[in-house]
Amino acid sequence: MPINKPDDKPVKPAKKAATPQLVRGMHDILPTDWPWWNFIFNKVEEVAMCYGYERIETPILEKTQLFTRAIGNTTDIVEKEMFSFVDQSGDHLSLRPEYTAGIARAYIEHGMLSLPQPVKMFSYGPHFRHERPQAGRYRQFWQFNFEVLGETEAVADSQLILAAAALFERLQLPVTFAINSVGCPDCRPKYRQVLIDYYRTKRSEMSDEAKKRLTRNPLRLLDSKEEALIEINKNAPQCVDHLCENCRNHFVKLLEHLDEVEFTYQLSPNLVRGIDYYTRTVFEVWGEDGAASAFGGGGRYDNLIEEIGGRATAAVGFACGIERIVAELKKKQVPVPPRQRPDIFIASLGEAARKKALKLFEDLRRQGVTVAESFTKSGLKSQLETANKIGASFALVIGQKELMDDTIIIRDMENGIQETVDIQKVSLEIAKRLEHKAARSVPA
Ligand code: AMP
Repeated sequence: MPINKPDDKPVKPAKKAATPQLVRGMHDILPTDWPWWNFIFNKVEEVAMCYGYERIETPILEKTQLFTRAIGNTTDIVEKEMFSFVDQSGDHLSLRPEYTAGIARAYIEHGMLSLPQPVKMFSYGPHFRHERPQAGRYRQFWQFNFEVLGETEAVADSQLILAAAALFERLQLPVTFAINSVGCPDCRPKYRQVLIDYYRTKRSEMSDEAKKRLTRNPLRLLDSKEEALIEINKNAPQCVDHLCENCRNHFVKLLEHLDEVEFTYQLSPNLVRGIDYYTRTVFEVWGEDGAASAFGGGGRYDNLIEEIGGRATAAVGFACGIERIVAELKKKQVPVPPRQRPDIFIASLGEAARKKALKLFEDLRRQGVTVAESFTKSGLKSQLETANKIGASFALVIGQKELMDDTIIIRDMENGIQETVDIQKVSLEIAKRLEHKAARSVPA
């Protein structure tokens, strides 16, 4: 309370601070969301294990120059989407907009070239892009990411695509893979020129934005969503028809490998992806029902490591957006394991019983039993309601009478049947009952 001196004017109470709000484009992952997130993380870990990937996590902050060099100055990400700043030491830093550049840096910095190649690594974590927030598009979003570094052969691309497919199969989400080749620095400039020549003949039908793009990054016109361009692109020259011999062979091999395992894919001549470092293979993973955007995508980046200062190392990788997958899992009502339900709920009545309950909680926890409580609630009814709500299998009740008798009540929350047992035997009794319950729930 502000205290006024007699000759002071009355002190106005400070204005109540505005309710704190999320930064635009950010979102919270609430406790109720975690079953979906954990489901995805578990499937990512399982697939990584099956295909021989090891986890790597790189920092969220990297030098800005890493991204400008790796991703390319004319890309949307570098031109307008990075969260960049100069820190107290004068370093130009950015929140990572994607994983690959940081992982390539780590590969160089930790001398991973001297490890047996290829080096296969996976990751999952948050990324930042200052995009216009809209449904499914955030300024902080999560990706999982798989990279194979140190391998030129097309078989690596094929197996990476198969790993991505295996992951979506485990996520129970039907998807389509769109695949293309964008060539290499030998053949792409020639194709680029063919493309520019084609678009020049269509200039009168193109928007100002598209014309600007034509001079800066003509390949990106190919996957434009502008209606006029969609029409123009139907007859645009295709990159696959302008690949050099090495790139063509690589692409043919990739497709042959996929055909060998009878993997269904869609050839997408207009697929280019928005990042400059891609060479040869590019692919995207699309959901069903004409989704507005892809779950993810990836491709080969044979020159990136050399471009950012390492030795020439071919590599291929892919990343998917986790928010979009969570939304799809929810939409499709894919069953995910629920939040872990505690085995036991301890209810206590009165101060003395609460002390005993606290000790019992610790004893059972040490025994490996998952226990919940609501020590701060006093009525038995409300405590049992909580036990019910969180789905505990059994409640243990300690009241005055039980305290005096050194007993405890075990209540089966499924059928309400209660039994009073000697408190010394409670661990044994609980173990027995949980075992019995587990045996009953195993499907025949
Ligand atoms: P990219 O790194 O641009 O190839 O993106 C790969 C995937 O990450 C996309 O297909 C999306 O699923 C996801 N993604 C990219 N940007 C965002 C964003 N701003 N918000 C949510 N997810 C995103």
